[in-house]
Amino acid sequence: MTKKGIVWFKTDLRLHDNETLIKAIEENDAIIPIYCINPQELNESNGKVERIGDFRLKFLLESIAELDTNLRKLGSGLLLLVGNPLEEIPKIAFKYSARKVYAKREVAIFEKQLNVQMEQELWKQKCLFEEYSTSTLYLATDLPFSLKDIPEVFTNFRKRVEKETEIRAVFDDPEHIISPTIPALNLPTFEELGRQEKQTEGRGVLLFKGGENEALERLNYYLFESHLIKKYKETRNGLVGGNYSSKFSPWLANGCVSARMIYAEIKKYEAEFGANESTYWLIFELIWRDYFRFIFKKHQHKLFAFNGISGQKNTPPKPNFSLIQNWKTGKTGNDFIDANMNELRLTGFMSNRGRQNVASYFIHEMQQDWRIGARYFEEQLIDYDASSNWGNWAYLAGVGNDPRSGRQFNIEKQAKDYDPVNEYRNLWLS
Ligand SMILES: Cc1cc2nc3c(=O)[nH]c(=O)nc-3n(C[C@H](O)[C@H](O)[C@H](O)COP(=O)(O)OP(=O)(O)OC[C@H]3O[C@@H](n4cnc5c(N)ncnc54)[C@H](O)[C@@H]3O)c2cc1C
Repeated sequence: MTKKGIVWFKTDLRLHDNETLIKAIEENDAIIPIYCINPQELNESNGKVERIGDFRLKFLLESIAELDTNLRKLGSGLLLLVGNPLEEIPKIAFKYSARKVYAKREVAIFEKQLNVQMEQELWKQKCLFEEYSTSTLYLATDLPFSLKDIPEVFTNFRKRVEKETEIRAVFDDPEHIISPTIPALNLPTFEELGRQEKQTEGRGVLLFKGGENEALERLNYYLFESHLIKKYKETRNGLVGGNYSSKFSPWLANGCVSARMIYAEIKKYEAEFGANESTYWLIFELIWRDYFRFIFKKHQHKLFAFNGISGQKNTPPKPNFSLIQNWKTGKTGNDFIDANMNELRLTGFMSNRGRQNVASYFIHEMQQDWRIGARYFEEQLIDYDASSNWGNWAYLAGVGNDPRSGRQFNIEKQAKDYDPVNEYRNLWLS
């Protein structure tokens, strides 16, 4: 009997360095790659916030389409399911008599629960469920400490992992995939998903397009074509244009590129053109990304709570909806904050410098519940990922992993330092 396995793609929309896919190919005679769009999750409202905003949705649909194209080049294709994955995936497992479903291991609570429930549902028909960690640089199992002992201070974490843990090599791309005939991809349109596609905003830092090919092109551009990586440490606090930072985040968030692939390419670059502080600094930032993931694994739902992991017992302030609305729509009256919030609302992206300032303003000057700001970012950001977003917000609110506890930025000084001739503010306040 032919052994069949299902690969459930989620935020790992790529063929390269994808252990989930490789293991499924190795262990089966044929595989069925699937993606499940859950309309309820797309449109789930949390107060006045959608879970997946229009920019992120567009990027996601593009990434799915490209994954299908790339799979077809290898003899397979992506089977698109629309509905609740807990119902749709077991149906497909039954239809194809699949023996195992392979999927990405999750860290955030909702996604983790979904995996647990999926395993239970599949087991009802004796189908196994197996997870692989595919999003971090370091594997949790390779860390020099157990999950409960992960240091609460980033520097302590980084120093030990850099010294004691190897980053594993990337998995090779599959050369050929055997699958049953997969029907042509029929992606739902924005309208079918109850949305209206937004106009592209020419002032944005990049015309982001989802997909593995675009991710690898951007990686190649940032390193080997433009050599921008050589100056990353000096430019990374910029605000205008595509070149001040890598802009890898939307592709990383959707798994169109793996963090390990970026690391491997940086190492190649360093071997050819030399290493400097900047080439290292991009790796340093990817370690931050890992850190927030591991901290999420350790503290789970606490990072969604007002007091975070601080142990404080403070009561959240009553929301001032008109202040919050002004913040969202770029009408606070503080020109640096307003410019950043306009960029976010109109493009789905904001620089790291901008994010720190608008979050600090929301928490410390507007004195609002940081979780409302984090939820708005969740809706808007094209690169939203639970660990990086909630981890950074909690950090700035002083209830996360910050030894200095609660960072209040001097917004006027920040504007002067990072936007000295008003280039950024002129761009986004016009
Ligand atoms: C309040 C707040 C919310 C944030 N929400 C998100 C989010 O939802 N998704 C997200 O990917 N990043 C988030 N970040 C981190 C950071 O702002 C973005 O990763 C970065 O701006 C993306 O641009 P880039 O790819 O050009 O980054 P680069 O400066 O080129 O950095 C390279 C990569 O390193 C990682 N990285 C850099 N800075 C951080 C950081 N502070 N925390 C975690 N990873 C980092 C990212 O994966 C990034 O793509 C947030 C930061 C703040 C202050």
